[in-house]
Amino acid sequence: MTGETLRGSCLCGEVTYEVHAPFLRFAHCHCARCCKATGSAHATNLYVPPGQFSWTSGTDSVVRFDLPSAKSFATTFCGRCGSPLPHHTRSGREIVVPAGSLDDEPSLRPRGRIFWDSRRSWTCPDDRLPRHSEYADWW
Ligand SMILES: [Zn+2]
Ligand SMILES: [Zn+2]
Repeated sequence: MTGETLRGSCLCGEVTYEVHAPFLRFAHCHCARCCKATGSAHATNLYVPPGQFSWTSGTDSVVRFDLPSAKSFATTFCGRCGSPLPHHTRSGREIVVPAGSLDDEPSLRPRGRIFWDSRRSWTCPDDRLPRHSEYADWW
């Protein structure tokens, strides 16, 4: 998996980026904030060290929102089409990549579902992935 490079972009194509393996984590998050930020039943994020991420176009259109009431929750999106884009955590230690913005197929698969206890009642039916009421022990 080392050496794997994945390309990603927003819906309108203005913003593009690249991330390089090895990746830190890949998981579905069912917390209420991720539901709001994605408009969906969960977020699916890939985590990478900051040195393995770079914008390849459209950085002027990247808009970041740090949720004031949260310790670290943030979201980033294209100012033109509004679709979610990667962002660094407030600690700066990791980049959170919304997996749906990837254009290439990652060889890694999600490892689990976190914040399962906060899930919407209408979320997708459960699969065989391990569920964690909040963070997983491998987080
Ligand atoms: Zn866009
Ligand atoms: Zn979440």
